[in-house]
Amino acid sequence: MNKQPIHGLCNAELAQRAKTLLPRGHGMARRIHRQVMREGRFQPESFGLGREAAEAWRAAFSFELPELVAVKSDEGDYGATSKMVLRLQDGLEVESVRIPMGRGRYTLCVSSQVGCKMGCTFCETGRMGLLRHLRTDEIIAQLLVARHRLGWPIRNLVFMGMGEALDNSENVLQALRVLNDEAGLAIGQERLTICTVGHVEGIRLLDQLGFKRLNLSISLNAANDSLRNELMPINRRNDLAKLQQALIVYRPRRNFALGVNYCLLPGINDTEADARAVAAFCRPLDRVLVNLIPYNPGSMPLARAPEEAEVERFIGWLRAEGLPVRERVTKGRGVMAACGQLGNPTARAELKALRTVRV
Ligand code: SF4
Repeated sequence: MNKQPIHGLCNAELAQRAKTLLPRGHGMARRIHRQVMREGRFQPESFGLGREAAEAWRAAFSFELPELVAVKSDEGDYGATSKMVLRLQDGLEVESVRIPMGRGRYTLCVSSQVGCKMGCTFCETGRMGLLRHLRTDEIIAQLLVARHRLGWPIRNLVFMGMGEALDNSENVLQALRVLNDEAGLAIGQERLTICTVGHVEGIRLLDQLGFKRLNLSISLNAANDSLRNELMPINRRNDLAKLQQALIVYRPRRNFALGVNYCLLPGINDTEADARAVAAFCRPLDRVLVNLIPYNPGSMPLARAPEEAEVERFIGWLRAEGLPVRERVTKGRGVMAACGQLGNPTARAELKALRTVRV
């Protein structure tokens, strides 16, 4: 029998499954779940279960965290941005980034896939291709390692690491339920953010989840179809009109403000006409907040990083169009932990080598 990872389940789900699978000791399920989620350990004996019952728990359920391979930090004005690299059971690696938010608060940027098939041309992960989806427990494990192995005080979570979150919607939606589960991790919906390149079907599924206070942001990066087709191949399938329509429908609450991320690439998407196109795209969407992200060159740069004056000029054009804009301060560029820099383009070759050795 395959063991079920406890950290892929909500508290009530574990209680239900334990009842089905275990003749004795299932009454401890809710406390065992809380121990795993809140303390990062799985010790059924600590609840007074006898040896047999504890062994039955271990035979049916598992709690294993991936190996922590490396932590790299980059000091900045708000504190250190730190990237952790985790090795999964099959040898593949994923990366997550701790981002300082000031006043001792941190956001964890988590991965949802190993690699990504979306192929955005400015992104390091896109160059890997998709190796596989992460399971729910592997998504949650990133938070548990951060909190319980590294002692990081994580407050918010954003799905903006490796992968397109809504391309792995089944596992990501379940991860949202597990994160938000009041009897478990109890992370408020307002502290969770899904970021998507514009996966229209995924946005519909997210709507059906019914999380009224969840944050959603899209990576726009170009507001005319021909440029967006080039930068983000998903646009050939879900063009700007389709994306805009899906976002008009997605209104989880009255005061919902959509995050619109725009990575500024000098010489590519930084003209006044580009800014006007962004405003035209956003106008029917009610409330938005544009996050302007200065491009972070990866191992095969598409452009240079923009000068501060170029960033300010573009922000000025957006504001003149009436858009609220915030500049995302670049964090973690020194350790390849900034936006668009996660991933290991040689991972596919390494995986092949790993499989050859195992055969
Ligand atoms: S930006 Fe996001 S969706 Fe695009 S290739 Fe990178 S990880 Fe994938």
